[in-house]
Amino acid sequence: MWKVIALDLDGTLLGHGGQIAAVTIAALGDFAAQGVWITIATGRGFEDTERFMEENGLGSAAGFPHSLICEERDLYILENAGYAADEVWNGTLLEREKQALPELRRCAAEYGRTAPCFINSLWFQEKRGFVEMTFGTVEQAAEFCQQASQNGSWPAGFRPVRNHRGVTFRHETVGKGAVLTELLRRLDVTPGEVLAMGDSHNDLDMLMCGVWPATTDNADDLIKEVVRSGQGYVSEQVSSLGVADVLKNFRP
Ligand SMILES: [Mg+2]
Repeated sequence: MWKVIALDLDGTLLGHGGQIAAVTIAALGDFAAQGVWITIATGRGFEDTERFMEENGLGSAAGFPHSLICEERDLYILENAGYAADEVWNGTLLEREKQALPELRRCAAEYGRTAPCFINSLWFQEKRGFVEMTFGTVEQAAEFCQQASQNGSWPAGFRPVRNHRGVTFRHETVGKGAVLTELLRRLDVTPGEVLAMGDSHNDLDMLMCGVWPATTDNADDLIKEVVRSGQGYVSEQVSSLGVADVLKNFRP
């Protein structure tokens, strides 16, 4: 039996239109009723994530997910009145990332001259704490990411993280894997008691932090390879139907 289930949002729990299949919600409800801690782990901000939960009847109304990992950095725990931010954790990591914004901005602008990309606005950079470059295609983003990984001109401690066509530069203490690891420490759960699901590059560190990995048919090929090599489960169904399939059939 899993002690924690960690789920990416877009492309995993959410399909097109932001809907979660009823069969998936029911399966998650069964696990929650048995005391399993369910957490979302997403690159989306809190407002979006909370809205998707409410629109699907989750959150306070359902009693789960018990926590939200948002922006691949911030932690929110479900309490009676709703999700409460972990102010200390979130504030510390946001500040750590924001300190590097001026240098990251300079680097992104320099690379932007040689690559076809859109850079998020200063307003978003200040609010969310990171610079994001969005490319025309996944291949362009992947190629940039590959080059940037080998280029030492980025601020120390930062690394490129790709999510489909977008590339962000994030501090090494931030990421779905790092925050999930912190959550497991607090819950006194070992990674071997955890199921984690994601479909994209920004899920890699979460899928590779010692947990049991699973993914859906719509996932990037690289993600499927990583899941298979980690003795995980690749569903033949897409997004939330794939999650339901994994919950029903994956018994390592
Ligand atoms: Mg995803």
